[in-house]
Amino acid sequence: MPNQPISGNDLARFSGPQTFMRLPEAASAAALDVGFIGIPMDIGTSWRSGTRMGPKQLREQSAMIRPYNIQTGAAPFDALQCADLGDVAINTFSLSDSIRIITETYAAHLKHDFIPMTLGGDHSLTLPVLRAIAAKHGSVALVHVDAHADVNDKMFGERETHGTVFRRAYEEKLITPDKVFQIGLRGTGYTADDFTEAAGWGFNQYLAPQMWHKSLSPLAAEIKAKIGDQPCYVTYDIDSLDPAYAPGTGTPEIGGLTTPQALELIRGLRGLNIVGCDLVEVSPPYDTSGNTALTGANLMFEMLSILPGVPYR
Ligand code: MN
Ligand code: MN
Repeated sequence: MPNQPISGNDLARFSGPQTFMRLPEAASAAALDVGFIGIPMDIGTSWRSGTRMGPKQLREQSAMIRPYNIQTGAAPFDALQCADLGDVAINTFSLSDSIRIITETYAAHLKHDFIPMTLGGDHSLTLPVLRAIAAKHGSVALVHVDAHADVNDKMFGERETHGTVFRRAYEEKLITPDKVFQIGLRGTGYTADDFTEAAGWGFNQYLAPQMWHKSLSPLAAEIKAKIGDQPCYVTYDIDSLDPAYAPGTGTPEIGGLTTPQALELIRGLRGLNIVGCDLVEVSPPYDTSGNTALTGANLMFEMLSILPGVPYR
């Protein structure tokens, strides 16, 4: 049997190791199918900070998640070898140095064939992760769930921030533009057409109001058909959810997705050739109930549940 999360019937859920789902720790990805990696960083944010505490809080809330997905039948731990690879040793005084460190850390791990699942951290971490992913897999398809398109050119003159990630990824050809799907966009812009340039690159954009009161299962099917078997990265910004569901984040925008819609979307993506995922922008200081991290941890489990090779019962 592969590694199993510690059962809540063997050791009380409020104790034990502070790893994701209380899985074993691993120093190397050599024997793994899936590795959870924390990036405790908030120095790329532009409004409220706090995501440096995200990985710890996501791991803490993950202690309640049981290994079988009763709703979908997914049994990831029946087949995939999973472990927690710990946190990236970022330089909290330098965003640019941290970005370099993240790429180097992921490039070293990705010498092994495994799927990194990243616990953020602010969204600026996705750029260095994608650099390492693309170096291994080539340009990837991207499912990007977010209130924001994150396609600014510069913020305060900086080219690498949580609001510029996908412009850089496009310029560096880390992602295949017509296979980029940005879902949940909304809010206000610096200009009236903040998102339209990226649409011109080929990005497929789905504004939140287009999805109000609707199931996201048809959208997931459409995305899956368009991406086909190309290696795909899923980046999940928790602020895609309405602040009613996920208030604990740095840049909340009203009128967002619901938790059931998030589940429909992720579950509908099963079958994609996913080579990496992240869950970013959980900010525990603004998450007074813990619900945002709880939701984020469960969305990580849902993404784990749709990875290639997961058996369904
Ligand atoms: Mn974002
Ligand atoms: Mn966002």
